[in-house]
Amino acid sequence: MKYQAKKRFGQNFLQDTFLIQHILQLIKATDCETFIEIGPGLGALTNPLSQIIETIHVIEIDNDIVNFLATQPYADRLIIHHQDVLNFNFNELPSPQKIVGNLPYNISTPLLFKLSEYIHLIDSMFFMLQKEVAERLIAQPGSSQFGKLSVLLQYFFDIEILLEIPPTAFEPIPKVDSAFIRMLPNEGYHGKVDDWAQFSKLIKQAFSMKRKTIFNNLKSTLDKKTLLELGINPSLRPEDISIEKYVLLSNHLHK
Ligand code: SAM
Repeated sequence: MKYQAKKRFGQNFLQDTFLIQHILQLIKATDCETFIEIGPGLGALTNPLSQIIETIHVIEIDNDIVNFLATQPYADRLIIHHQDVLNFNFNELPSPQKIVGNLPYNISTPLLFKLSEYIHLIDSMFFMLQKEVAERLIAQPGSSQFGKLSVLLQYFFDIEILLEIPPTAFEPIPKVDSAFIRMLPNEGYHGKVDDWAQFSKLIKQAFSMKRKTIFNNLKSTLDKKTLLELGINPSLRPEDISIEKYVLLSNHLHK
């Protein structure tokens, strides 16, 4: 019987075998302590991965999929965590961790924010995402896509789009294009912010209205003089300001 994909769990299964082989080469699966796959589904990646990795931790929310996986010939290579990945405690697994997944699109943004809290455990991450989200993740200052997601994730990770993927690579066929990305913990900014909660609050406020100037968005928190002293032109839009400047601003507010 053909498996009926569930929309509510963002189930679009990879079906392009050439693409799957390409993804496996990019992941270089063998060289890591702990290998984790988020949302294994019907095993499009899990099955070939199990031929090169002895133990794969898979995190899956769907009962039917968990039952399916448990009956597969490669089941003895899996440690199945039957739960919502948004509640998963990655501290329970040894590090360094390599984390991969063709992510359910409806949870990809909160999941990426959650994973940044576990940066100390992460070796590398490889994800399939909606192309539009991937473009926001890699956007640089000056681009209209540069926003909250770009700043808060580039603060922790070097992010690169490795492949762009058409909807026809999946079954059922989604409405949007996808991209396969790599995220590597970044030494650049990490640790430079004095107070992370304050920094993320500042970024949310700075980008609250993207069409307004940085001064307009932040005027309840600071004045023009302070922005000028920090080398930030108050009439710039939030997307025109670099991560370094936002770090400076946040640390100034912290003092
Ligand atoms: N890896 C498979 C593939 O590439 O064909 C399936 C990918 S499918 C896009 C997303 C998978 O994530 C599904 O198996 C779905 O059931 C699972 N999933 C959805 N929401 C989840 C959640 N909150 N926690 C864990 N798994 C989830």
